Amino acid sequence: MKTEQTKKPASRQQLVKKTAIKHILDSNWRDYHWQLENAIRTIGAFEKLTGITFSEEERKELEETMNKFPMSITPYYASLIDRENYRNDPIFKQSFPNPAELTISKYDMTDPLHEDKDSPVQGITHRYPDRVLFLVSNRCSMYCRHCTRKRKVGDPDHIPSKKQIEAGLNYIRENRQVRDVLLSGGDPFLLPDAYLDWILTELRKIPHVEVVRIGTRTPVVLPYRITDRLVNMLKKHHPLWLNTHFNHPRELTHSAQEALRKLADAGIPLGNQSVLLAGVNDCPQIIKKLNQKLVQNRVRPYYLFQCDLSEGLSHFRTPVGKGIEIIESLVGHTSGFAVPTYVIDAPGGGGKIPVMPNYIISWSTNKVVLRNYEGVITTYKEPDSYEPIFCDRNCKECVLQLKLDEAEERPPIGVEKLLGDSDDAISLIPHGNKRLKRREKKAS
Ligand SMILES: *Cc1c(COP(=O)(O)O)cnc(C)c1O
Repeated sequence: MKTEQTKKPASRQQLVKKTAIKHILDSNWRDYHWQLENAIRTIGAFEKLTGITFSEEERKELEETMNKFPMSITPYYASLIDRENYRNDPIFKQSFPNPAELTISKYDMTDPLHEDKDSPVQGITHRYPDRVLFLVSNRCSMYCRHCTRKRKVGDPDHIPSKKQIEAGLNYIRENRQVRDVLLSGGDPFLLPDAYLDWILTELRKIPHVEVVRIGTRTPVVLPYRITDRLVNMLKKHHPLWLNTHFNHPRELTHSAQEALRKLADAGIPLGNQSVLLAGVNDCPQIIKKLNQKLVQNRVRPYYLFQCDLSEGLSHFRTPVGKGIEIIESLVGHTSGFAVPTYVIDAPGGGGKIPVMPNYIISWSTNKVVLRNYEGVITTYKEPDSYEPIFCDRNCKECVLQLKLDEAEERPPIGVEKLLGDSDDAISLIPHGNKRLKRREKKAS
């Protein structure tokens, strides 16, 4: 009798073969149009492709879940699922509905990052001073179960029209401080080449737009989308950056690596944004392996996200401590460029906030005491004399020779304001502070 202990686990290669052999024989397997047309959207189709079956009761729960949050999985991505142990499989967990998604907790929100509230025109989120998020496509080939924009997934109302894209482009044209445009969605690579070419061409015509970046998960879930034709089109629009979304080392298949090679060879700097997901990658070893494999493929780990407070994600969330533990196990232990910045995207639209283990242990007037990744405690002696350059933000008069144009001159924001010499503020006070209200009352 075969038992879990004695059975030699099948290699992933073998499993891919077992699950997808009849489709791989189909010469269309590598055609991304075929992958999109054959995206798995029903339990029946999933069962047919993978050979995994569900009970009547499970089916009912799954269908209820899919009524609220639809399913779509590319046959390619589904073929990576380990059928023998699918319930613990990171590919399965990221792509297949889980009835736990229907559990909405008190702290869950439909739009936790206030992307719609911080939106001057539909499709644009203008959160930071110098860059905007531009949602140009609502389509995705695979619906990530952990999507932060779950509210929009599969909703045809949100497919932006050409007129809407024009309005977004106009907003960028009219706002000279926007020097970085982040195309996302949906997945911009689900737009036809010519349409994306048009958007990029229009953006490139805007003199103040210095860089454009694309956020796409196609290298992970639909690597065949990265065709020579697409890459040759993208090449015309440099400086173009690209961020993708690998969460587990198992996703770095030969096809995915080939897609990354094409993009990197086209001179596109590649970054990766992972999400920390319970039961998928909440392990220092997994994240280390993932990031090491990414840099091997010329992808620079960019962010590791704490899971957002979007509705239906509670079963994916970890404590923040897990993220800190993971960063602790990376810094110093592996290449600096294999370490992403761990961030919490502030609920309410505050933007991404980096979170780090504490490395500074103490401080005196001339010494900083730090500890390193091994636990060694060290001192850094600060200079005995340092003449700070007085800064009233008058860069024209400053000896440091920075040449700014008008659009770049801006008043300091937040804590920056308290640190510099140019602003009289000595404190930042929350709106509606009661103590200060009492003060006002006393004065009047
Ligand atoms: C993440 C994000 C950006 C880009 O932030 P970076 O830290 O520059 O990568 C811009 N706008 C919005 C709304 C975002 O969520």
